[in-house]
Amino acid sequence: MNEMESFDVIIVGARVAGSSLAVLLGKQGKKVLLIDKASFPSDTLSTHHMSHLDYLKRLDVLEEVEASGLRKIERMRTHVGESFVEGPRASYTIIPRRDHLDAILLHKARQYSDVREQCSVRELLWDDGEVCGVVTRDREGREQRIFADWVVGADGKNSNIARWVDAEIYHAEPPLRPVLYGYYEGVKPLERPATEIFLHEGRIGFLFPMEEGRDCLGIEIHPGEFKDMMASPREHFEAMYRQLYGMDERLRDASLQGKIIGTPGMPNHFRQSYGKGWILIGDAAHSKDPSTGLGINDAFMQSFLLAEAFEKMEAGAGGKSVLQEYQKKRDQQLLPGFQLTLDYIHSLKKWTQNEVALFQAMASNPMVWNKIAPSLSNHLKKEAEDIPLLYQSVIMEAEAFGYRKEGE
Ligand SMILES: Cc1cc2nc3c(=O)[nH]c(=O)nc-3n(C[C@H](O)[C@H](O)[C@H](O)COP(=O)(O)OP(=O)(O)OC[C@H]3O[C@@H](n4cnc5c(N)ncnc54)[C@H](O)[C@@H]3O)c2cc1C
Repeated sequence: MNEMESFDVIIVGARVAGSSLAVLLGKQGKKVLLIDKASFPSDTLSTHHMSHLDYLKRLDVLEEVEASGLRKIERMRTHVGESFVEGPRASYTIIPRRDHLDAILLHKARQYSDVREQCSVRELLWDDGEVCGVVTRDREGREQRIFADWVVGADGKNSNIARWVDAEIYHAEPPLRPVLYGYYEGVKPLERPATEIFLHEGRIGFLFPMEEGRDCLGIEIHPGEFKDMMASPREHFEAMYRQLYGMDERLRDASLQGKIIGTPGMPNHFRQSYGKGWILIGDAAHSKDPSTGLGINDAFMQSFLLAEAFEKMEAGAGGKSVLQEYQKKRDQQLLPGFQLTLDYIHSLKKWTQNEVALFQAMASNPMVWNKIAPSLSNHLKKEAEDIPLLYQSVIMEAEAFGYRKEGE
């Protein structure tokens, strides 16, 4: 190995954030080194509900991701008690396993960058208060100093890069909800597959259809339940999942593939995203509860935004002002989803017996819908005053079904 290797950009972490950035910067002609301590394909702690597929298209990997036989899910069903509301989605959703998705992204990144797997970044190199490279250790335990104009931390929510540069944290809230999930084969399917969400006892159950006959099942539970659940995860998970409407029967012939995975929760915060010689993207820069399934999309969004910033720097704009602008835009784009997610979790509650009973009676009564459906959007607009994205995303979805703003 060359002791004095140097690159334009070193990216630490090669999953959705790191690999996508390596593709984009490599396409700009930058000399990029992409490093990960893992070897791929490998799994990571994450479910993988993806409804924003435009980024995969722009990275030219959508076809390959879908080629494993993933179902295109065009409907969504929300259960409350023994009732449910179901409708079409403006665009389809896919649920690719992370080992599959991340390996395809990494393969693409190889076309545009130098990739090193099983290579861990141990520390940063500094020159007069500015980051100028990294020290790596490879699988044989050999250490190497590698230099770069920029070191990008795409190393996940527990980012070492963020810790070493002491990146400021803001909008912080501690983890709110533990999540458990697993992969099942043989769950009795719906006639037409739908992403299913169960609002039950203040928990969120989810069923994400993957390939034919295979589903990702999960539950966001109450914080106090985590310790007991993890004492015997499969037994407790299945007992809780069977309480969800219809799932006792639908799980009868199902079998768990692998094990139930659990996390006490994700931190909720933004980190300062740049400094002298360093930049953070993906979960290293911004992390939140996974209930709204936005993390992967947000990681891609940051990569595309940062690639634009690099283009501006290449064209001669000053690094500091470009990155200041980058962070401003990043926060503007991430904040609405962050507020939406926190509001969703904070407002989750155990519905009273009366509330569930009334919902069930109303859900099945056409005269009720005839009366209230026309004014539901006004009601939502009022209820969602503090979380504009909730109303806006409904309007955007409605536009795909023919909604036109009045007076236009
Ligand atoms: C339970 C759960 C469910 C989720 N469900 C969804 C969902 O349905 N939809 C969705 O969009 N998002 C979901 N998310 C969020 C999503 O997983 C993350 O937002 C996404 O993985 C962030 O990607 P990333 O590339 O920033 O970081 P990561 O995926 O965390 O990758 C970081 C990489 O950095 C590497 N690394 C770390 N340190 C070093 C080092 N020192 N040297 C070298 N390499 C290093 C690691 O090996 C790793 O490969 C979920 C998260 C959780 C926890």
